Amino acid sequence: GKKHKVTIVGSGNWRGSTIAKVVAENTAAHPELFEKDVQMWVYEENVKVDGSSEPRKLTELINERHENPKYLPGIALPHHIIANPSIEDAVKDSTILVFNLPHQFIKGLCRQIKGAILPYARGISCIKGVDVRESEIRLFSETIGQELGIYCGALSGANIANEVAQEKWCETTIAYDPPSIDSQTPTPARTPPNRTPASSQLDLTKLNEHKDVSGKPSKVMLRPLPAEYHPIDQPLMKTLFHRPYFHVRVVSDVAGVSLSGALKNIVALAAGWVDGLGWGDNAKAAIMRVGLLEMVDFGKRFFGKTIQTKTFTEESAGVADLITTCSGGRNHRCAKMSVVEGKPIKEIEARELNGQQLQGVSTAEEVNIFLKSQGLEKDFPLFTAVSKILRGEEKYQDLPGLIESRTEAD
Ligand code: NAD
Ligand code: 13P
Ligand code: CA
Repeated sequence: GKKHKVTIVGSGNWRGSTIAKVVAENTAAHPELFEKDVQMWVYEENVKVDGSSEPRKLTELINERHENPKYLPGIALPHHIIANPSIEDAVKDSTILVFNLPHQFIKGLCRQIKGAILPYARGISCIKGVDVRESEIRLFSETIGQELGIYCGALSGANIANEVAQEKWCETTIAYDPPSIDSQTPTPARTPPNRTPASSQLDLTKLNEHKDVSGKPSKVMLRPLPAEYHPIDQPLMKTLFHRPYFHVRVVSDVAGVSLSGALKNIVALAAGWVDGLGWGDNAKAAIMRVGLLEMVDFGKRFFGKTIQTKTFTEESAGVADLITTCSGGRNHRCAKMSVVEGKPIKEIEARELNGQQLQGVSTAEEVNIFLKSQGLEKDFPLFTAVSKILRGEEKYQDLPGLIESRTEAD
C-alpha cells in the first residue's frame, strides 16, 4: 500500500514537540506504513538563546539543533522532524494530521488550512479543551471534523509532557472510530497498487453522520481513502503512537476521551488551591472524587448518545489523567502557587509558563458559560465554584461548603 505522510499541526510547544518525537520514532520504525519525514507546523516566533542578544526564528533553531529550545529544552528530537512555519505547506499531501495546540487557536487554524489538506485526510486531536459558543458545546475533534470535512479522533491520557519526552513509561488513550466508509472501497489486498478502484471514482463522497455529536447530528461529507493506501484504522493509529515508554490503548469513545481531558483541568485548579492551603491529601482526594463525578455527569448529560462511563473510570484519559494533573500538572502547580503567594493566578501564569497558557482557566470559564446557558450551574457545584473563585466571586477557603450539595446528594 501507499505510505502515509504525517503532519503534526502543533506549535513546537511542549506537547507538540513531545508528540512529534513519539510519532517520528514510529514513522522511522515502520517504513512499510509511513513516510519517514514528519512535518511539524510551528507557530513562528523569535527566540533568544544562549544569552545572545540577537533573536532567532524558532523554526530555524529547531531544524539546526533538533531540539525545541523554547518549549522542550534539553530533549533531542529525531532529525526527520521538520519544523515548518507555513501551515499550508506543512499539511500538504498528508493523510494523517495530528492536532496539538492550545485550544484557543484551533478555529483560526482550521480556516487557514481548509483548502490545503487532502480531502480524505484523517485527524487525531490531542487538544484538552471544549469549544463553547454560548449555549452550544462541541468537542475539538468535532469542530476540526466539521470545519475541515474530515473524520477526527482523539488522543488523551495521563501524559505530563516532560515525563513523556524523557521516555518515562506511561499510558495513553486513543479514541478512533471512523464510519465504515473506507471499507466500502476494495481493500489494498484485493486491489493492485497505484490504481484507484472504480467504485471510489464513481462515488467519491458519502454523507456520514459523526458519531460523537452532542445534540443535533452533524453531517459531514467524508471522502473515502483511495484504496492504494493502507487503511487508516485502529491498528494503524496504535502503530503510529505506541512506544515502549508510551503505551496506547485504543477505544471508540471519542467524546469520553476528548471531554475528560478538558474537564480534569478544572478539577486540577481546585486541587491546587487545596494543596496551597495546606489542607493535605485527604482534602485533595475529596476534590478529585467530586471532580470525577461531575466529569461523568457532564458527559452523560450533554454527550449521552455516545459516551461511556468506563472511559472516565477505566482509561488513562479519565481517572489517570485526573490524578496526574492534580499532582504534577501546570494547572495544579500555578493554582497552588497563587494561594501560597497570595497572588492572582494570571500573574503566576505569566511568570512561570514562558508564554504557555493554563488550559484549566479558560475551560472553567467556557464550561461555566455553557452551564449558565442551560440553567444548570447548581448541578455542577465544583465546576461552578472554580469559575466563581477565578472571578473573585467566591473564596477557595469556602470550597467544602460550595460543593456540599454534591457531597450530600451522593
Ligand atoms: P502551551 O499551553 O504550552 O501553549 C504555548 C504554545 O502556543 C506555543 O508553542 C506557541 O507557539 C503557541 N502559540 C502562541 N500563539 C499562537 C497562535 N496565534 N497560533 C497558534 N499557536 C500559538 O501548549 P501545550 O502544553 O503543548 O498544550 C497543547 C494542548 O495539549 C493543550 O490542550 C494541553 O492541555 C494539552 N496537553 C498538554 C500537556 C503538557 O504536559 N504540557 C500534556 C497533555 C496534554
Ligand atoms: P497541565 O496542562 O495542567 O500541565 O496538564 C498536563 C496534562 O494534561 C497531563 O496529562
Ligand atoms: Ca444521557
